Amino acid sequence: MLTRTEGIVLKTQKYGEADLIATYLTSDKGIINAFAKSPRKTKSRFGSSLEPLTHAKISLWGKEQSLPRITQSDITNSFRQIRENYRDFVNISKLVEILISLTPAGIPNTRLFSFFLNILHIVKSSEHELKDALHLITRIRLLAMIGYAPRLKGCGKCGEKSLDFYPDSGTTLCGKCAVTPDRAGKPFMRINNKVIHFYTHSIEWPINISNRLKPGRDTLYGLSGLLDKHLTYLLSKKLQSSDRSFRVFQV
Ligand SMILES: [Zn+2]
Repeated sequence: MLTRTEGIVLKTQKYGEADLIATYLTSDKGIINAFAKSPRKTKSRFGSSLEPLTHAKISLWGKEQSLPRITQSDITNSFRQIRENYRDFVNISKLVEILISLTPAGIPNTRLFSFFLNILHIVKSSEHELKDALHLITRIRLLAMIGYAPRLKGCGKCGEKSLDFYPDSGTTLCGKCAVTPDRAGKPFMRINNKVIHFYTHSIEWPINISNRLKPGRDTLYGLSGLLDKHLTYLLSKKLQSSDRSFRVFQV
């Protein structure tokens, strides 16, 4: 069975001597794996269309469940500029890790595809020297879109005001709710109103005007550290409880 779709290469891994398995975020099939026969033998257009982050129109032969073969792949946008910019690539790779680890494979999500493609275009065309705020916003937005954003607006159990974020709960908790016997001694992070303010706007404002947000260095570092802790907790929990065979080669 031949199917056509468009996808963004999230990662590739070697398969045997000369073959590759590519993981795509597709427009209509969600995240899928596909097999590419000998793309590394030559520096062909087919080979370069399998570079990470490439947006391409692809033809697949075979059932989706049993690793279809890529029979054709035409580049729509290579996003080479992102691969060649170390900081951009590292930051986008974090999004890729979130996507692969926290979204189920094979579930169509057109909105997620458009969102990720839009982020690649924004990061590629952004001329700011420092894109730290933009990268942080993209991470927050992605987490919000797939339902894993931390909650920072009040206690996650009772709604009371709180500035203590608990990574194991993914939320801020007030003094009362944080000290129940089963929670004794859990680590937390003290945040401030600037962090909450920036975080809330990151989620609510359209991403293309988010460059109007001008967080201070302390706010950026604070929120970035919080997200790192949140993700470390989420990903380790997820990886322990799921099949790791495909995650060993994670970007
Ligand atoms: Zn509470």
